[in-house]
Parts: sequence; structure tokens; C-alpha cells
Amino acid sequence: CGIVGYVGESQAAPILLEGLSKLEYRGYDSAGMAVYDGEKIHVKKATGRLKVLSELTHDGTMLPGHVGIGHTRWATHGEPSDVNAHPHCNTDQTIAVVHNGIIENYLKLKNMLLEKGYRFISETDTEVLAQLLDYYYKGNPLEAITKVMHRVEGSYALGIIFSDYPDTVYSVRKDSPLIVGKGTDGNLIASDVPAVLKYTREVFFIQNEEIACLKKDAIEFYNVDGEPIQKESKMIEWDV
Ligand code: GLU
Repeated sequence: CGIVGYVGESQAAPILLEGLSKLEYRGYDSAGMAVYDGEKIHVKKATGRLKVLSELTHDGTMLPGHVGIGHTRWATHGEPSDVNAHPHCNTDQTIAVVHNGIIENYLKLKNMLLEKGYRFISETDTEVLAQLLDYYYKGNPLEAITKVMHRVEGSYALGIIFSDYPDTVYSVRKDSPLIVGKGTDGNLIASDVPAVLKYTREVFFIQNEEIACLKKDAIEFYNVDGEPIQKESKMIEWDV
């Protein structure tokens, strides 16, 4: 399983596909991408090999846009299927989420959201994250993300895009791996270093409960309370 995200000058989808291919060694049963095209978030996902997603999107060219997130899934909650594949969105598809890990208390949160009128289309724990972000989102993505972090139990590495903030990829982790790559024409998130090495060797290792906000020419980090933190990058010397 793996996650990748990109924001920058280039087309996002081909970079997401390339990055995901470098994470194939981690194993997966389905794959998907969400890309913002300047108007709205478009999602494509497919059960099976990455090749199926590549073909479905004509090597990513059918998902134009400069900001996006991608995922390979190793199903834990809900069978491998197109609908259970990531990204998962809120109902009006203004928030898209990719997730590696397990939300242990997802049933409790799902029931809370069902009572508030939220509807779910998948069997995954991850869709609860998308709807919970929607529930807490009042115009400030960072605030919604920290509120969700305070409510969920379990492990997660997340890539998130908000159509209100189409120049930013948000990312956070707890007990699932996540790195940030600082590129020259844009910035990336990934589960592991090999996914970004084609674009950069400058990498930030994200620690538990740290949040990264990536724009094409800036990367900011925050703690679980939404306070800015400073991080040092490392230069990767090795090859894959
Ligand atoms: N628990 C999530 C799911 O089953 C994410 C699995 C993963 O890490 O790929 O959809």
C-alpha cells in the first residue's frame, strides 16, 4: 500500500502514477487518484494492478491538473473493490482523502455521523475520515485536520485536498510512514523515499502527529494543535 501527493508546475497525475509504481513493492489490491483541474476534484479508481488505473486514465492524461493525491490500497475494512478503493470524498466531493493505516474507532465515528445525516457509499474506515473532515471543516483545513486527529484512534498516513484550497496538499501521519520531498518544480508527499527520488533528493521525515502543508513553492509544518513547527530536511545519498 502507498500514498503519493503532488503540487507544482507539472501535471500531477503522471507523477502520481510514477510515484505509486515505486511503492508497488509494499503490496496492494487496488489504486486510485484525485486531481483538481481548476474547477473541481476528479477521482478515478480501479481494482487490480496500477496498469488498470494507468489505462483508465490514459497514463494520467484524462485527469488534468497540477495538484493531486494517489493511493494503492491494501484492504483492511471492506473487500477490494472499485468503490472501496481510495481516494474517498465527502458527499459533494470538495474534500478528497487517501489513507494508509487503520482507524480503530471508525464504527463509533460512523454512527455519530450517520445520526447527523451523513451517508456512506463504501465499507471502509477511510470514508469516515473524509466525512469527519467535512463535519469539522468551516473554511480552515488545518483546523478541520487537527480536530479529526483529536477524534480518531489508530494508524494513518493521509494525503488530503480541499477544492477551496486548490494550491495545497495537506498531509499528516501517525504510526504509518510518510515523507515530504522538496522538488524544484513542485513538492511531493509519499509513503517512502523511492517514490520521490526521480524529482528530488531533499526530503523531510514526518514524525507522528505532524502535519505538512505543501504548496508549489512552500512547505509548512504544524503540530497537532495547529502551531507552526520547524523541520530540517535531509539529502538522500543513496539510489534505488
Ligand atoms: N484501512 C484502509 C482501507 O481498508 C486503508 C488500507 C491501506 O492502508 O491501504 O481502505
